[in-house]
Amino acid sequence: MLTPDDFLAALHERGARRIRCVRFRANRSTVWSLTQRGTVLNVHAVFSRADDEILESFATLAREGHAESRRGRSASAAIMSWPPLHDEIARLRKEHSAERRTTGRSSCCGTPEQRSYLRALYDYFNQTRFGGALPSDIPVRLSDRMRSSLGHMRIDEDSDDGRRVAEIALNLDLMLEGNGAERADTLLHEMAHAADYLESGHAGHGPSWKAWARRVGCRPTTLYDRPVRRRRPRNRPLQRVPPLPASLSPRAAPTELDVID
Ligand SMILES: [Zn+2]
Repeated sequence: MLTPDDFLAALHERGARRIRCVRFRANRSTVWSLTQRGTVLNVHAVFSRADDEILESFATLAREGHAESRRGRSASAAIMSWPPLHDEIARLRKEHSAERRTTGRSSCCGTPEQRSYLRALYDYFNQTRFGGALPSDIPVRLSDRMRSSLGHMRIDEDSDDGRRVAEIALNLDLMLEGNGAERADTLLHEMAHAADYLESGHAGHGPSWKAWARRVGCRPTTLYDRPVRRRRPRNRPLQRVPPLPASLSPRAAPTELDVID
């Protein structure tokens, strides 16, 4: 294992005299960067295990001062394709997503009753609008952190076995009385994103999403400027559980949107 000083000495031995400092960085994004006019080299901490060939590549980059030249480009390519780097980045990303799962950064702010309401509504729409095309286990949660946004569908970027949806989240405000139509439309909107992503790999509002939106009966537009009621004040807790659609509850009601309001 090299220390930053060993690394620096190795660069100097290879003629990269301009570098006066090497810093090891442990994160998921920086592989290497030259800062302070090419005198400081920041490298991912995994390069403390660099072999001769990789040290030579870094020396080339440091001598050139950038990766724009032919030599710089090929040195950079050698560094970027170094297998231990890929293993380490994959490991850090896994660790990060496990952390996100356990620290509750994406935890639901709703009550257990609100969660089971959303689950039931999701299952209901999956059966009645999507023909059961969606996985039954996509997490659906409420968020009290969204400002203008009403919902989102997040894909699982760390999935090793094909496309996976990490979650659907809805703005807590949608649980207010009077927001039934927008609540239904937003959930369908996000479910359409999930179906589209799983089917086509697309995550935007393009033609394949619009096709799903029309098929399942939600508005084929983005979620901005929707007429929703908001909590006042913004941080007011909200434990309301709206009534479920008629076919799921003993209550009879004239139309679906009336019932889920
Ligand atoms: Zn959308």
